[in-house]
Amino acid sequence: MKDVTILTTSTCGYCKMAKEFLVKNKIHFTERDVNKDLQARREMTSRNITGVPVFLIGNDVVVGLDKTRVLELVDHRLVQCENCGTAVRMPTKEGKISARCPKCKSVLNL
Ligand SMILES: [Zn+2]
Repeated sequence: MKDVTILTTSTCGYCKMAKEFLVKNKIHFTERDVNKDLQARREMTSRNITGVPVFLIGNDVVVGLDKTRVLELVDHRLVQCENCGTAVRMPTKEGKISARCPKCKSVLNL
């Protein structure tokens, strides 16, 4: 599964919307504030990106809140274990699969 990172600044309204969008769609992500995270800022400048939010999804980059593109690229959803509440990443592109909760070993279905 691809890792999802979102590059943000604390003052950007679209970044807030972008995070809400990811949460709503049950996407697991890591947030990096480019004003505090020098490496994240280098990630942007090396790609000539000047605005946030930026989504890094595997090897793909989405600049701006392009919801359709993000949903196309993300290949997992978070499924919450009914038994213990642990959120587990499940691949969405492998048909119908089931997995076990890493914590309580209950069977999870996507
Ligand atoms: Zn569980």
